[in-house]
Amino acid sequence: VSPEQQRMIEAHQFCLRYFQHLLLNTEDGEEGLQYLEGRGFTREMIEAYGIGFALPSWDALTTLLSRKGYDLAEMAQAGLVIQKEDSNGYFDRFRRRVMFPIRNEAGTVIGFSGRVIDTEGENAKYMNSPESPIFHKGKILYNLDQARPIIRKERKVVLFEGFMDVLSAKTANVHNGVASMGTALTLEHVQKLKRLSNDIIVCYDGDNAGWEAAKRAADLLHAEKLSVEIAVLPRGLDPDDYIKQYGTEAFRDKIIGEPLDFTSFMMSYSKRNKNFQYATDVEQYVEEALQYVALDSSAVKRELHLKQLQQETGITQETLTTQLRHKEAQRR
Ligand code: ATP
Ligand code: MN
Ligand code: MN
Ligand code: MN
Repeated sequence: VSPEQQRMIEAHQFCLRYFQHLLLNTEDGEEGLQYLEGRGFTREMIEAYGIGFALPSWDALTTLLSRKGYDLAEMAQAGLVIQKEDSNGYFDRFRRRVMFPIRNEAGTVIGFSGRVIDTEGENAKYMNSPESPIFHKGKILYNLDQARPIIRKERKVVLFEGFMDVLSAKTANVHNGVASMGTALTLEHVQKLKRLSNDIIVCYDGDNAGWEAAKRAADLLHAEKLSVEIAVLPRGLDPDDYIKQYGTEAFRDKIIGEPLDFTSFMMSYSKRNKNFQYATDVEQYVEEALQYVALDSSAVKRELHLKQLQQETGITQETLTTQLRHKEAQRR
């Protein structure tokens, strides 16, 4: 770590304590605390994860950092304050937001994500630290510092779409969860995970964006030779919503406990927007599904998938098998 990075890290530690103080000990922070309580956060969780609150003020943090001797130009580089466009002044980046510290694998705070407490107004729901000398969002997996020993022990990691889901899953005793910071899964993320475990469960949101992202993540993980399963949520729910609606036990047993294997997920994905009344949809489904069935290394599974395909489409086993042989030959 360079001296500059060291100072930025120190500043983040300072901000974390400041945001926590505001949330827990001040009247101004009460709306933040109420928001968190409304979402089921316990005091214990808030403290364990260093969650805090940023004031609605435009300059509270800027003034404080300056008074404590931090160089504001450097703090702007670190993403804690922003330089004004038409002057050399600075203002607070995070205003009236519940503040979630983001830690690297070593547990060092290197960024923040701030959530608005009411979604009225044109403010983005989440504001993250920008890229900085200490924060590279394509590398960070939220909660990896805490989850690492558990991932090692359980030999399994659960990948969520948002860090709120990671925290929510912990209430269901799922402690091996991580999430990327609002970006698609990168190769760097995968390499980090691969060092810890070969088995991964992808549990993304049950909306269209979540399905698309899960497909991309699963393709990448599979290509990188990880054993990937996909925990699928009812349409429109994310893990946090599901837990609120159906409880922690159902989440653990029915969602995380019964994931789809890679091939089955890809078949479901392909089936999602198709109507088997139409021959072209059937044809496309069979085509796409077989592509993935051909990738399945288990002969037994391949046969089971073929059986499922036959039941779903009414295409004979014979035709399906011929087509599959074709696909397998193409892959050689
Ligand atoms: P909440 O339950 O608080 O609405 P969420 O985790 O369900 O949060 P999603 O909308 O599903 O949020 O988004 C998943 C992730 O994508 C978030 O954790 C965040 O990292 C990122 N994200 C979402 N919206 C934004 C945004 N407006 N700006 C930046 N990042 C965002
Ligand atoms: Mn989402
Ligand atoms: Mn979500
Ligand atoms: Mn959510």
